[in-house]
Amino acid sequence: MPHAEITTLATLREAEAGCTRCPLYRNATQVVPGEGPSRAKVMFVGEQPGNDEDLAGKPFVGPAGRVLDRAIAEAGLDRTTIFVTNAVKHFKFEPRGKRRLHKKPNTYEIDRCRWWLEHERAIVKPELIVALGATAARSLFERPVVIARVRGNVVEREDGTRLLVTIHPSYLLRIVDARDKAAEYRRFVSDLKICAETLANAA
Ligand code: SF4
Repeated sequence: MPHAEITTLATLREAEAGCTRCPLYRNATQVVPGEGPSRAKVMFVGEQPGNDEDLAGKPFVGPAGRVLDRAIAEAGLDRTTIFVTNAVKHFKFEPRGKRRLHKKPNTYEIDRCRWWLEHERAIVKPELIVALGATAARSLFERPVVIARVRGNVVEREDGTRLLVTIHPSYLLRIVDARDKAAEYRRFVSDLKICAETLANAA
């Protein structure tokens, strides 16, 4: 159950900044709260902040965020109307020389950080949530999810929340072959078009 005193995005941000619910706060620069309109109809949930997001304190401002922005625009969605956040709010990484390499959050960290995602959902009350990748899907379904099995379908949870699962845009950055990359990008845009159609039909 969300905390009764956390009823706005501002109070939520403040509470998240002091979070010690899992060890990830220790090495990250800062917490990266969700961002967007407090009454957004759609919420996009990614995995966790990356290096750029950790430094900026803002979600989806790095290379994956730029791919996401482009796909959102191509799908006919307006980025400024979307609330974007992550399943895990602190950057998990492994130091490698001067670099910090992304490390996938584990089940414990995802489960501990769901508390904040639930607050975001309770405040924003989106009509549709788009899970970007397996970590977001794991958090939202509260169980492991095989992306290929549920991808591109809007599913309704018992509490009435509608969820759409697709890939995380960082997956596209890792594809080496240009043709495969282009095909997967088109598929990603198609998934986001389903999001746009679902919102249009609900209006
Ligand atoms: S990752 Fe989430 S649960 Fe863990 S310390 Fe950060 S805000 Fe808290």
